[in-house]
Amino acid sequence: MNVIIAVDGPAASGKGTISRAIAARFGFSHLDTGLLYRAVARRAIDGEDPVAAARTLKAGDLERSDLRSVEVSRMASRVAADECVRAALVVFQREFAHSDGGAVLDGRDIGTVICPDADCKIFVVASDEVRAKRRYLELVEKDPSTEFETVLYDLRDRDARDSRRAVAPLRPAPDAVLLDTSHLTVEEASGRAVELVDGAIARNRSRQSGNS
Ligand code: C5P
Repeated sequence: MNVIIAVDGPAASGKGTISRAIAARFGFSHLDTGLLYRAVARRAIDGEDPVAAARTLKAGDLERSDLRSVEVSRMASRVAADECVRAALVVFQREFAHSDGGAVLDGRDIGTVICPDADCKIFVVASDEVRAKRRYLELVEKDPSTEFETVLYDLRDRDARDSRRAVAPLRPAPDAVLLDTSHLTVEEASGRAVELVDGAIARNRSRQSGNS
């Protein structure tokens, strides 16, 4: 059985941590699809046309150490609104989703566009303040001059752009389960996600044995 798990949600909602926990627990491959848009953004900042960058993206582009900066985050949500950039990244994501042994992909449109037939869809949310605090703590470690208010503003700005764009906007698939991590520890949130995946796998098994 080739299991596909879709984990979507806004910035710093906890979807990356949850996806890694699912991948570790079930032995699935994991793709952070935000990295694809960040890598395109990085090349766009360096002067390339974003569509050309998306069409020629290489594994090495995803390994750059400078993909997590505020500048790259902002540019990522701009290039991600371009239909041609998104189209150039679809095939890679769908092929990854069919990795042997199962896959978990996290992003904004996995459950709605990339893998609408995923076995389990989780939409991770958390309050703006909680998400900004998480991101602030990450950023202030690298740059002590980081201000909480700026991080909160950037996060809201990016969410608004990601939710309002015409193509593949950030929104839960109708069959996604909402997981609010505002008041959960990492262990609690990951545990709840693992339960959801366990339940989806059990339902698929019984459906398949019913069909055979
Ligand atoms: O998840 P992350 O914050 O790294 O994503 C960076 C940006 O990439 C998002 O703000 C969003 O604009 C874009 N993105 C997207 N679709 C995805 C993943 C990320 O549009 N599946």
